[in-house]
Amino acid sequence: MSESLSALLYLVASICFIMALRGLSSPETARAGNVYGIAGMAIAILTTLSTPQVVSYWLIIVGVIIGGAIGTYISQRIHMTALPQLVAAFHSLVGLSAVCVAAAAFADPQAYGIGIKGAIYAESLVEMAIGLTIGAITFTGAVVAFAKLQGLVSGRPLVFPGQHILNAGIAIVIVLVILAFVASEAATAFWLLTALALAFGFLLIVPIGGADMPVVISMLNSYSGWAACGIGFTLSNSLLIITGGLVGSSGAILSYIMCKGMNRSIVNVILGGFGGESEAAGAGAGAGHGDRMVKSGSAEDAAFILKNAGSVIVVPGYGMAVAQAQHALREMADILKKDGVNVRYAIHPVAGRMPGHMNVLLAEANVPYDEVLELDEINRDFPSTDVAFVIGANDVTNPAAKTDRSSPIYGMPILDVERAKTVLFVKRSMASGYAGVENELFYRDNTMMLFGDAKKMCEEIVKALE
Ligand code: NDP
Repeated sequence: MSESLSALLYLVASICFIMALRGLSSPETARAGNVYGIAGMAIAILTTLSTPQVVSYWLIIVGVIIGGAIGTYISQRIHMTALPQLVAAFHSLVGLSAVCVAAAAFADPQAYGIGIKGAIYAESLVEMAIGLTIGAITFTGAVVAFAKLQGLVSGRPLVFPGQHILNAGIAIVIVLVILAFVASEAATAFWLLTALALAFGFLLIVPIGGADMPVVISMLNSYSGWAACGIGFTLSNSLLIITGGLVGSSGAILSYIMCKGMNRSIVNVILGGFGGESEAAGAGAGAGHGDRMVKSGSAEDAAFILKNAGSVIVVPGYGMAVAQAQHALREMADILKKDGVNVRYAIHPVAGRMPGHMNVLLAEANVPYDEVLELDEINRDFPSTDVAFVIGANDVTNPAAKTDRSSPIYGMPILDVERAKTVLFVKRSMASGYAGVENELFYRDNTMMLFGDAKKMCEEIVKALE
């Protein structure tokens, strides 16, 4: 295939990727976005395989078979709630591959057309050093994020005195080593840079607590994009440069949007030490409420209240995903709608365990898109709503975010469910949510706790409604 034809096809693939991102920005167009993405990737792979630089088809085929088999196996088994750690694990591989490409190009520069050993072009050394650094940071950072989310290590922030000074010091040394490497092309500088960047990635993520993980994941997503972009320069592959840039900037934009959603600055997130894993979360019923009284009700009570309401706002959270309650929930909403109740859904930007988690689950249960509203669109409607039906959500409704300056979630915008006339909380116990903070709302006069598994509770309410 001629170079100009492959350049043209790479351009077509890049346009497909841009269309894919555009499509994925709204649930209505997400499927079309996926199709564009698949088409772009198919064009990209076939074009790359047709270029004369391909040395061996066998190695590629074996790689595709092994990688494809692992990917298929994982996609069949993975639970939706474990997607964040899967994404973190995949990001670590992107980072590792950037490190491997840099090492290969350094060992055999001629094969990459970037000069000869001992006389690699200066600009290629700069690209190599940047790709290597970002790749290594992404690798260890993503491994730590995976270990935290998978529960292999505590999700609590690991902070120690002098942490920021140490990190700033390493960052400065990294820049100096990059300069030394570009000037000398020394192997020692290359490997020192690798070791420093690996350590930096680790140190950068350990102080970040569980509650900030969404931002971290999207930040790592952004890093892995820039790492791919760096590889693109080393390989002189325009498609990789464009797609790396797209992933890098969309990840950065998503991080910004999430920070805005939590009312935090990106610097504050990166500096870490915020939030933590809920030790109380598994503590079971009764945890943390001492001798304070809570009002609890049955499915029949809930059915009665819902049936007599004029308007209901459903607030789904992580527990709905765990229980896979979305289908039973929609069935419940359908019955209520038939009875003339106005049912809508309120989505918090960080509800669940990944951006868009709740939207995907509700779409899976065929909940109409126009009933699903974002925090900004629906928050002002709670005071005029009869029932807020909070199903498996906790942190995203916690008023401590507005009132308690010492709370780790202080400043995060929340769904103002307490302003509805009645608040129904479906959860299994009094345990706290992901940020490990007790929720004052459980004790309020207008709150009724519906203790039980979210799916079972919805099914029982459906029965009672029928
Ligand atoms: P939370 O984690 O605050 O609360 C979920 C609640 O669901 C728990 O209190 C739990 O209570 C309940 N629950 C668990 N299993 C079930 C079940 N089977 N049936 C019924 N209830 C159940 O979730 P939110 O969605 O409110 O908030 C998300 C949190 O996760 C935020 O702190 C956010 O920062 C963080 N996060 C978000 C990510 C994202 O991108 N969206 C990524 C990573 C973290 P009980 O045990 O009593 O049942």
